[in-house]
Amino acid sequence: MVDFLQLGIRKEINHTLKSLGIVAPTPIQEQTIPAVLEGKDVIAKAQTGTGKTLAFVLPILEKIDVHNSDVQVLILTPTRELALQISKEMKKMIENVEGINVLSVYGGQDVAHQLKKLKGAQHIVVATPGRLLDHIRRGTIDLSTIERIVIDEADQMLLMGFLPEVDDIISETFPSRQTMLFSATMPNEIRSLAKKYMVEPEFIEVKAKKV
Ligand code: ADP
Ligand code: MG
Repeated sequence: MVDFLQLGIRKEINHTLKSLGIVAPTPIQEQTIPAVLEGKDVIAKAQTGTGKTLAFVLPILEKIDVHNSDVQVLILTPTRELALQISKEMKKMIENVEGINVLSVYGGQDVAHQLKKLKGAQHIVVATPGRLLDHIRRGTIDLSTIERIVIDEADQMLLMGFLPEVDDIISETFPSRQTMLFSATMPNEIRSLAKKYMVEPEFIEVKAKKV
């Protein structure tokens, strides 16, 4: 059985995972982590509850350059609850790792507070599309330094009518970025979006049971 260390996750994070009782990667994690570490564009389809969050969180953390204070990764997610959940999971994973900063940006949050935080070094921004577009339009966030972008729960984004915003946001980022998309289902609109922005994506599909 393969473990997180063998997949390329550092030992400090492996310890944290173990302390949470997470010892074996789920099938989607086992396939996605190496592809993301290799820098590939990825489309991952697996049902809810199969561990898609850690499938992108873990390899992304390995890719952060702590000596660079630019925003390097953007994670787009449909709701404030999911934005909070993802940033919480990320912060938990870096409890024993120095120097990585994660900021969540979502509607309903105090803008002045967000602006203050955006002035500090933030390596990873977890955002809902609407609030992020506000920041882009105000010029208070610069996406040109982003090297990797994750579109999480893409089918929910579609259902909530956010795909045009997601499209606008991706087009603001560095063209040779790495793009990753995660979804429980893969409707045509999402396939088209992936096709528009990805280069030779690896399609990973898992039909496993829930964790
Ligand atoms: P999805 O995004 O696919 O719906 P989540 O990433 O939210 O699923 O994960 C569902 C649950 O499974 C979470 O509580 C998470 O902590 C747990 N989990 C994730 N990966 C593992 C693993 N490798 N072993 C055990 N539990 C895991
Ligand atoms: Mg999820």
